[in-house]
Amino acid sequence: MNQKIARFFEERRPQTPCLVLDLDIVEQNYNALETALPDARIFYAVKANPAAEVLSLLTRLGSAFDTASVPEIQMVLATGCPAERISYGNTIKKEADIRRAYELGVRLFAFDSEPELEKIARAAPGARVFCRILTSGEGAEWPLSRKFGCDLDMARELLLKAKDMNVQPYGVSFHVGSQQKDLKQWDLAISQVAQLFRELEAVGVELGMINLGGGFPTRYRSDVPASAAYGQSIFDSLRRHFGNRIPETIVEPGRGMVGSAGVIESEVVLVSRKSANDSKRWVYLDIGKFGGLAETMDEAIQYPIEVLAEEMGEESFDPETEAVVLAGPTCDSADVLYEKAEYKMPLALKAGDRVRIHATGAYTTTYSAVCFNGFAPLQQYCI
Ligand SMILES: *Cc1c(COP(=O)(O)O)cnc(C)c1O
Repeated sequence: MNQKIARFFEERRPQTPCLVLDLDIVEQNYNALETALPDARIFYAVKANPAAEVLSLLTRLGSAFDTASVPEIQMVLATGCPAERISYGNTIKKEADIRRAYELGVRLFAFDSEPELEKIARAAPGARVFCRILTSGEGAEWPLSRKFGCDLDMARELLLKAKDMNVQPYGVSFHVGSQQKDLKQWDLAISQVAQLFRELEAVGVELGMINLGGGFPTRYRSDVPASAAYGQSIFDSLRRHFGNRIPETIVEPGRGMVGSAGVIESEVVLVSRKSANDSKRWVYLDIGKFGGLAETMDEAIQYPIEVLAEEMGEESFDPETEAVVLAGPTCDSADVLYEKAEYKMPLALKAGDRVRIHATGAYTTTYSAVCFNGFAPLQQYCI
């Protein structure tokens, strides 16, 4: 357990549920990625955790930013980050928003279809554009496939078309899926991109950039490869497929930058059984799917959860544990966190006890509902 975060909880006793984010860990994660991929430019995926403190820290460290909307662009600009360090990476944008981003100084835009490319050419004349290709999302715990990207034939056709439009065909992007633990997935995508680069070069389009996306993991209940392993594997792949003509590279870490920096504290609201001989107790927390833990959908992301023994009182504490179903506090039956995944909690657990949900720095505050059932959005403290 992170001592700085533990001390904050003990001294401040904040109301639950809340997320405490350690900015030192964000800085460590940034440095580790930079060391692992020394030639790649880091574009932090703002959606993972857009807290002003996180964005300011990363601006100071020299990071660039992957954004998905005008408000995200404005949040980044508010930290003093120059617009040249911002990419508008969403492939689904209103033309008015493209124009607004362009007015704000953004010159790098993603697309994966012809109508989107046309919008960019009209609203952001002269901008650099990159085409996102489809990936399978295989091996990822939170795949992003299908919705984003186009196939290689279409990408080639569109980048060729872009040459004769009012934009600069600049590169290709992909995302191997979030929480990607299979290093080979980058190699598969990089080999396809290299092929695309060669085919386009043959018809007079010289691309300069490959955007390797996000996917760098956070350690949840099981180990993940270290940043260095990702860096080595990606570098080897670039060498293999591009030889000594490796283009400029970009990475867009979201989860890998902030996931491990956060801990949520939550209070047990109720422990109950559905029948006298129910084999599993139901443990209802004051946070659920609608309070920020949306990534428990299909039990995809399994956070490590720690019961605070000292909270339970010396006498009543029984170390014996038993399987539980974990659920949130709202009146929606979809608000169950884990039923199939095995989570065990002490038999002595009761309402009022506290639990800590670890590795929750990414994709929690932004996924929290505004006021479902009257519950306030997830509070965050950056320390
Ligand atoms: C969400 C997103 C990311 C970040 O992905 P992680 O798996 O969290 O690193 C990067 N790039 C794009 C385009 C995204 O949509």
